[in-house]
Amino acid sequence: MENLADESHGAKIVISGDTKICGIIGYPVSHSASPRMHAAAYRSLGLNWAYVPFPVKPHELESSIRGLQSLGIMGVNVTIPYKEAVIPYLHELSPAAARMGSVNTIVNRNGRLTGYSTDGQGFILSLEREARISPKGQSAFLIGAGGAARSIAFALVEAGVSELWISNRTRFRVDALKHDIEVAYPDAKVTTVDDRSIQMIHALEECKIVINTTPLGMPPNEDARPIESTQWVTSDHWVCDIIYKPFPTRWLADVQAKGANILGGAGMLAGQGILAFHLFTGLEVAYDVMRREV
Ligand code: NAP
Repeated sequence: MENLADESHGAKIVISGDTKICGIIGYPVSHSASPRMHAAAYRSLGLNWAYVPFPVKPHELESSIRGLQSLGIMGVNVTIPYKEAVIPYLHELSPAAARMGSVNTIVNRNGRLTGYSTDGQGFILSLEREARISPKGQSAFLIGAGGAARSIAFALVEAGVSELWISNRTRFRVDALKHDIEVAYPDAKVTTVDDRSIQMIHALEECKIVINTTPLGMPPNEDARPIESTQWVTSDHWVCDIIYKPFPTRWLADVQAKGANILGGAGMLAGQGILAFHLFTGLEVAYDVMRREV
C-alpha cells in the first residue's frame, strides 16, 4: 500500500516497498533543516529515498544506533548532543572523524556503521561556493575551540592555509586544539592568542578569513559579539559566522558596515548536508538544491 508522505513544495514523495530511509538523530531535532535539505536533493534526482527526524532520548542512544543496522537504515546525520556520544557504538571512523573525536554522519554499509565528520568540509565548500575564495595559502583566524571550531580548524589546515590563528575564552581548550592539529599535521603553522587581547587585534588585521564559531550572536544572545572592536576590519576581509539564524548576526552587520565581506552559516549547513548526501547515496547534488532549503 502506498502512502503520500510529503507534499511540501508541491512534489509528492511516495513511500513504497523500495524506499530507502535516512534521517537525523539528536535531541531535540524538530528544528533541523536537514529533512528539508535531503528531501529536496532526493526530489531533484528522482530518488526513492526519504529522510526522517529521529528525536532520540539520551538513555536510548545505544539502542537507536543498533536499530540502524536491524532496520536497514542507510545512514543518519548526528546533531547536538550526540556528536561524540555515538562514537563507542560505531564499527569504524573516517580518519577525519577519528582526529576530531566527533561524528555528524553515520553510514550503514551492510550492517557496518562508519562515522564521518562533514562539518569542516561543509564550511570550506560554502567558502568556495559563496565567497568564491580558496583557503589555500591564506591566513585564517578562528574564534572558538569547541566542536565546530575543531572540524573547521582541521579542514582549513587540510585545505592548505598558510597560518591558522585561534583564540578561545577557555585557554586549555585552544591549547588542546593546537596540540591535536600539530600531532596530525606537524608542518602546520598554528598560533594561539588570548581572547580579546591586543595581539588578537593585530592578528585579525593580518588574516583575510575570520570565522566566529561561538554561539555569541545566536538567540538568546543576539546582541553579543565574539569581539567588540572593529578597528581591524578592511574591505579585504571575509568575515564568517557559522551561526545561520539570524543572518546577519549583529557582529556580521558591524563588520559589513566597516566594509568587510560577510558569510553566514547557512552555506556550511548546506555544505555538510551535500557531503553527507554523497556518503549516503554515492551521488552528487547541486549546491543550490540544498542551500535554498536552509
Ligand atoms: P561547543 O562545542 O559548545 O563550542 C562552543 C564554543 O563557543 C567554545 O569555544 C566556547 O568556549 C565558546 N563560547 C560559548 N559561549 C561563550 C561565551 N559566552 N563567550 C565566549 N565564548 C563562548 O559548540 P559547537 O557545537 O562548536 O557550536 C558552536 C556554534 O556553531 C553554535 O552557535 C552552533 O549553532 C554553530 N554551528 C553551526 C553549524 C552550521 O552548519 N552552520 C554547524 C555546527 C555548529 P569555551 O571553550 O570557553 O566554553
